[in-house]
This record gives sequence, C-alpha cells and structure tokens, in this order.
Amino acid sequence: MMSSTMNSCYKDTKLVVILGSTAVGKTKLSIELAKMFDGEIISADSMQVYKGLDIITNKVTPEEKQCIPHHMIDIFDSTQEFTVIDFKQRALKVITDLVKRQKVPIIVGGTNYFIEALLWDFLIEGGLDDVDPKKELRNRKAFLFPGSKRRHGDKNEVDDEESDQRVDNRDVIAETALYDELMKVDPERANQLHPNNLRKISRSLQIYHTTGETHSSLMKKQQDQPGSSKLSGPLRFPKTLLLWLTADQTILNDRISTRVDQMLEKGLENEIKTFYEKHLKANEDSNVETKEPDSDLQIISCVDSSTNVELTEKDSPLETQTNSTKSDLLSKPGKSETSMTGDSKNNVLPESNKGENSVDGVKEYQEKSEDVLLKSYEEGIFQAIGFKEFHKYLTYTGIDESKKQKLLQASLDKLKQITIKYSKKQVRWVMNRIVKRQAVNTLPVYNLNASDIAAWDEHVCKKAKEITQCFMKDEPITHAPMAISDIDEKVTVTDKHRKHVCDDCNGRIIIGDDAWEIHLKSKRHRKMKVNRAKKMQVSAQT
Ligand SMILES: [Zn+2]
Repeated sequence: MMSSTMNSCYKDTKLVVILGSTAVGKTKLSIELAKMFDGEIISADSMQVYKGLDIITNKVTPEEKQCIPHHMIDIFDSTQEFTVIDFKQRALKVITDLVKRQKVPIIVGGTNYFIEALLWDFLIEGGLDDVDPKKELRNRKAFLFPGSKRRHGDKNEVDDEESDQRVDNRDVIAETALYDELMKVDPERANQLHPNNLRKISRSLQIYHTTGETHSSLMKKQQDQPGSSKLSGPLRFPKTLLLWLTADQTILNDRISTRVDQMLEKGLENEIKTFYEKHLKANEDSNVETKEPDSDLQIISCVDSSTNVELTEKDSPLETQTNSTKSDLLSKPGKSETSMTGDSKNNVLPESNKGENSVDGVKEYQEKSEDVLLKSYEEGIFQAIGFKEFHKYLTYTGIDESKKQKLLQASLDKLKQITIKYSKKQVRWVMNRIVKRQAVNTLPVYNLNASDIAAWDEHVCKKAKEITQCFMKDEPITHAPMAISDIDEKVTVTDKHRKHVCDDCNGRIIIGDDAWEIHLKSKRHRKMKVNRAKKMQVSAQT
C-alpha cells in the first residue's frame, strides 16, 4: 500500500490525456491526434481491460483504430480482479516503452481514478473502490452476532440506493461498532466522516490495519511531501496535457441513447447472452443443480464447495443452516425483492413440482440462487456498466416472447439511465478533482466543446491539434485553459468535509457543503422546519 518512490524518471515525459464522458467523442479525437503526432493510445478504462463484452464496454473496433496501436485493452481474464494498482503498474511500463520508441503516449479515459493514479504519486495507494463496505458490515455482524442469519433484503443492494434504507438493528449496531473502532484508532479521521459513511470508514480502517499507520497521519505525510496537496502527492508526469471533451448534457443524453440502440444492432443481445452462459451460468450450475423440470420429483441440491454442505429437498434449509455466508445465501427463505415470480411462496425449497408447476420450481430455485448470481456482478468485468441490468432478461426461462422482449427493453432503458448518470459523475470528477484543484500540483485543463458534431473539425479537432502542437514544441499554448470562473455557479469551491448540524431536523449531521445545500432544499427538511416553527409558536403561546 505504501509508495515512496519519487518518479523523477518521468519528469520530462510528455503525456497527452483525453478526458471526457461516454459518447462524447474521445476515441475519434485520440485517433486524430495519434495520427498527427505519431502517438499510441493507452486506454484507461476499468472494464475494457477485460477480455470479452466488446460491445457493451464500447471497445474500439479494428476499423475505428485505423492501424493506431491501442494498449491496455483485452489484457485480463474476466474472472480476475484488475485493480487500480494493476493499471498503474502496467500503464507505466507501456509509457516507458513508448518513450523508448519515441512515440507520444495518448491516455484516453474513461475511468477517472485510473487516470488520477497514473498522473499523481500517492503515498496511500488504492482508493475507495478497494474496499467492500457491505462485506465489512457482514463480517462485523457475523462477529457481533455469531450464528444469526442474514436478514432478507440485505443482499439486494446492487446499485439500489433505496435498499440502503432497509437496515435493521443489527446493521446499525455493526455500523456503529465500525465507526467506534475508527474513533478509537484515528479520531481525527473519524471526525471528518459521517457515521453512516460506511465506505470511507471501512477504507480508513483498512489503511490502519494494513499499514499500521492511521489514515490521517498518512494524509499528513503525503501533504508534507514537496509538490503535494490535500488531494494527492506530487505530479508523476509534470508535463501532461489535459484535453477535456465536453458536450451539453441534453445532447450527450441523446447520444448515449442512440449509442445503446446501436449496441443492439451490433449484437449486444447475443454478446451478453453468450457471456452469461459461459461465465455466470456455468458458475451458477456448479453451485446449484436442478433436474429436468418434467421429472416427477425435483431435487434441488445446493453444494457449497467451501463447507461441503449439501442441501436437498429432504433437508429443511433452515435446519441445515450454517454460519457460512454462501449456504446462507442459497437457503435464504422468503420473498426475494428481485424475483421474477413476484409473489413469495414459502420458506422452503420447492417440493415435488409436477406438470405445469414445474417451471415455477425452476423459478423458485432461481430466487434462491439469485444472491449468488448478484454477487458475481460485483467481481471483475461483471461490474461492467449495464451488464447486471440484463439480469432479469437473462434469467427469464419462460416462453412468453412478448414478456421477454419487454424485459429486454427494460434492460436497455436501464442501461441508458445508468450511463447518463455515470456521464454526469465523470463531469463532476473533472470539475472537482482537476479544474477546481487549486493546488501546487495541479494541471491546466483545455476544454473542447463537442456539442455540435457538425462543427467537430473547427471546435474540437483543429483546436486540439493547435494546443498539442504548442505543447509538443514547448511553446506557449495559444488557447486559454479552463478557469474556475468557467464553471457553473452551482459547483463553486466547497468543503466536502465540513460538518453541518441541522437543528430543524433533530440535530441530523450533514457532512459537506454540497450535501448541506441539498439538504436545505429537501422536502423533508422544509417540512421539519415548518413543523418546528409551529411547535415553537405553540410553546410560546402557552
Ligand atoms: Zn434539516
């Protein structure tokens, strides 16, 4: 986790970095620049590193490549976990090689924390994505409440913010225990965090447990390094050109929608189906086996390789319950939030399903194994944006063709929605982490407006080439970089760690100025405020 080497060897290396949201035109621009400046492209995309799923992860096609070499695509098996540290190490090797061959490295991304880890040297490696707060919570709960079963609804948290609210007392107690532990080992850090920010609390605890040093002291050390700031250590590549492609969000939304429709034309349906069958379904089948639905007696056996617990219809899953999470998942009783059958039946595995009911037996087993499946989406390429959105469609075994088409359409709509959401997140990252950085180790950002595709050559290509030309020749750049004043009023510099206490809402704690702004405008707060004013009026009168 520690990294102390100053990368002085990259002091004179010139990097061109193209930032921008999905569907804004990064690929097109990168190829135009690579052709003009004899460059090669390094993809900084956390999903394109994996083999497979070419369409849904938007990989550059051979035609689009136009013979320009691309690196860091298709380099990892989908079953392996590729971390930000893996990315940094491999990308640095590629860059070293390109420099040796006198090629210009053009980084295209994609995944913002990959780019950040490459450009800046961090004393604390990795990031928030390296922790699994749900796992921390599960472990803590298992420790605090040995032998107790997982509560229903705990599992349905894949990208489902609403389910976060479905926490029971054990969750709260476990969460508090994690926060208390951090308060004990690193009070300075704990005071900067909201007690509910499980991810950050887990991350700080993880740093403490793996390095033996507190997160806050490491952050201080990092800041004390020459050329460091609050956000990171010194720049690894001081000579970096940052080009940021943007477009009006409404225009971008349309482009994303069109792109998803085009994915379908390119064979998205077949791609995910094949991939699902090869990886997830095979994996699932090794855990759970079913007999043919038309057999008289349907035996569903759930084999957990880690504990060798085998469940058949003879055993009540509740009785054979062990502390193992996996068997826990498989035998979890009750209604599944994500079940396709809609209605919950009972607490046991299906008994003999005969005749027309046999299909329900299969569905029921799917309910049970769904947790295992959903967990798979948290690993490797299975996290690929949108892939898990096709879950209901992929696991539909019915013969109703119109229902199947409806499920597919719903998946596509969901894919559009989350891609749009992600594109907004990408914009916010560039604003917050780069443009507003205001630190010694910052880099100027050159904005290229790609809203008008008809004006691409003038607004994007020509401007980008002029800027890059000056940059390569060490001449003053003729175009102005972005200034904070270019940013919307709404996103002016704010403190994300400032603690606010809302008196109107019974002392509710809000961390960060932005969150505070949102809170003050929220329906809930306004309602609480009115109620409180009324109460105070009443108590003043009596
Ligand atoms: Zn309030």
